[in-house]
Amino acid sequence: MSAVLVINSGSSSFKYQLIEMASEQTLASGLIERIGETTGASTHKCRDAAETFTRDLPIPDHTAGFAIMLAAFEEHGPSLAAHPPVVVGHRVVHGGARFYEPTLITPQVERDIDDLSELAPLHNPGALQGIIAAEKAFPDVPHVAVFDTAFHQTLPPAAFTYAINADLAERYRVRRYGFHGTSHQYVANAAARFLERPVGELDQIVLHLGNGASVCAVRGGESVETSMGMTPLEGLVMGTRSGDIDPGALFHLHRKAGLGIDDLDTLLNRGSGLLGLTGHGDMRDVVDAAQAGSAQAQLALDVYVHRLKAYIGAYTAQLGRLDVVSFTAGVGENSDVVRRLALEGLEVLGIRIDAERNAARSRQARVISTDDSPVTVLVVPTDEELEIARQSLSLASAD
Ligand code: AMP
Repeated sequence: MSAVLVINSGSSSFKYQLIEMASEQTLASGLIERIGETTGASTHKCRDAAETFTRDLPIPDHTAGFAIMLAAFEEHGPSLAAHPPVVVGHRVVHGGARFYEPTLITPQVERDIDDLSELAPLHNPGALQGIIAAEKAFPDVPHVAVFDTAFHQTLPPAAFTYAINADLAERYRVRRYGFHGTSHQYVANAAARFLERPVGELDQIVLHLGNGASVCAVRGGESVETSMGMTPLEGLVMGTRSGDIDPGALFHLHRKAGLGIDDLDTLLNRGSGLLGLTGHGDMRDVVDAAQAGSAQAQLALDVYVHRLKAYIGAYTAQLGRLDVVSFTAGVGENSDVVRRLALEGLEVLGIRIDAERNAARSRQARVISTDDSPVTVLVVPTDEELEIARQSLSLASAD
């Protein structure tokens, strides 16, 4: 029996999952958060116990966080002696143009991830701290980095190049990289498996609609176009991020409202999207408020859906044909309202939704299009941790 430990680290928290790979079952999962604050918190859930164990205690750094995680396994199970991880898989947000596949972590890879912090200052430093602490906690097993950008390394130059000064772009690595790659890859493969079709034959659009949101066009299992760019800010309307906006608006806000570069960064990344439009960053609140008659919430929903439709149309044009559209992540898996509004009127693209199938609630992959719809529309729950575990084990076994 082999188990894989998957670590998803941020700057002040990390999530973990221990997955038994023969059955692909999660044996335990948890969250260590508020690292470095006066009081931190740990949460641990073991598959065989109904209870979720939580503790509040100071967690000075990631290394202390891993000691707390090990203690939680010891105390609440499962025993790591009975299920020793054969490899530890780490999610790393930005792999730049350098990392295009799961990568065995070496001191050089750590330096490269550090170097890429320049492109992802909010994400890569936390991942690196998690890697270094996890190596101390598990010194005898391989550690593998799985990059959010890697799946998009197949984007053609026409899709990843910004139309700015070419020398400047090259010197400062300004191009589109794309994110959520692990999820897009997992869902594209899961959709093909669900439909019992080879992924190589399918033209797909994957809509990852969570707190962050992105679209990906997948041809024959490879990403050929995606909506996030150099950073995870471009593209769709998100919980707190604006997505696409005319850069000219930023020059205007700088000149007229006196906003500096950090103010604009915060505005677009943390104070925009659904939150900026309505005061609510959570789609559930926005849908509830719209249904209760709030014109502001209705407008936010309209803007969200308008953008989504434009991307579906554009990506259908880029692909040239379309077999499958899949919805995934928090909003995509749960909001029949967003799914209905996003696909309404797209019969011209061969998309016909079945209202009853769309409204049904389930945690399983399912079809929500009509039987005569030329394009099959699916809801496919994503599982980034399982994808990281699979890729990490596959690399470790090949070595
Ligand atoms: P994720 O980033 O994939 O965890 O997705 C989180 C987001 O999913 C939350 O911020 C919610 O806006 C959204 N979400 C979860 N459940 C629902 C639901 N039933 N209806 C609408 N949105 C939902």
